[in-house]
Amino acid sequence: MIDLHLHLDGSLSLEDFKYLAERNHVELGKEFPKNVYVPNDCKSLEEYLTRFDLPCSLLQDEFSIAYVTASLVNRLYNAGYIYAEIRFAPQLHTMKGMSQEDAVRAAVSGLKFALKDKKGFDANLILCCMRQSSTEVNMEAIKLADAFRLDKVVAVDLAGPEAFHTGDFYTPLFDEAKLRGLNIIIHAGEACGSEEVIRCVDLLHAQRIGHGVHLELTPKNIRKMQEKRIAFEFCPTSNLQTTSLPDYKSVPLREFDKYGIMVTINSDNMTVSDTDVLKEFRHLFKEFKLQKHEVRHFLTNSINASFASSETKTMLLAELAKKIDAYYEDIIRE
Ligand SMILES: [Zn+2]
Repeated sequence: MIDLHLHLDGSLSLEDFKYLAERNHVELGKEFPKNVYVPNDCKSLEEYLTRFDLPCSLLQDEFSIAYVTASLVNRLYNAGYIYAEIRFAPQLHTMKGMSQEDAVRAAVSGLKFALKDKKGFDANLILCCMRQSSTEVNMEAIKLADAFRLDKVVAVDLAGPEAFHTGDFYTPLFDEAKLRGLNIIIHAGEACGSEEVIRCVDLLHAQRIGHGVHLELTPKNIRKMQEKRIAFEFCPTSNLQTTSLPDYKSVPLREFDKYGIMVTINSDNMTVSDTDVLKEFRHLFKEFKLQKHEVRHFLTNSINASFASSETKTMLLAELAKKIDAYYEDIIRE
């Protein structure tokens, strides 16, 4: 499998929680482990985002960040993944004095350590800016993505509560990212509507849109997405949990695909959303009766839309060809 939209802090294992809570003297609370998952009656993206407070409180030093990055890479590899792009916001890890740069260096070292013994698998990092943060704090993430571009950091992203500011507020940041030649992803069209997706493509130079399910498929919008080859990172379960979509059948999978708009299937947060890419494909299989060639098509989209090197993409296409039968059997097993 491949996950292009995977938040580090939303994907700690229960063992990671327990180990780091003891090491870092953090209380997990009486509700643990229930309190690491999004509640069944979650009403909004804002409420969903409160689930990141506990994992972030554990990740305030270099060791902890390196540890969870390596742990996540190991779990992905052991579950048969071939590629992932793991994202996090370095600014959320500075509560105890660690710099954003130290946070990035720690994630890079954890990633490289875990990748050392793995064949037929690769992973890269994406640095997130946050919608609720100052331009100054976010600009540091952009500069760090540039500084670490040869060191496994492949893109910048904008995450956080989508309704906080509309995309135009962030043009200085993403003009700078574009100027530096960085790859750009923006979370948009999840809690907000189609106009925000368009703003982020037009004004923030987004090459990939996190979610984007609310994009209206007007002829003009379709043409724009086709011409700019914008890829969409769908995360169906997460969208249901934030009430962004009412049910799996509302995921506009076939609609986008029909118009040649690149759709990829992702988990968003393996722990907060209690999912992974296999489970996402299982939900979509139940709803849309996906055929094997369609699963292969969506995973090929993920390879093409990834920010991996062309050499890695060639390796991934070969790995996907080897693994697609097993992947599909796994999807239809339930
Ligand atoms: Zn996300």
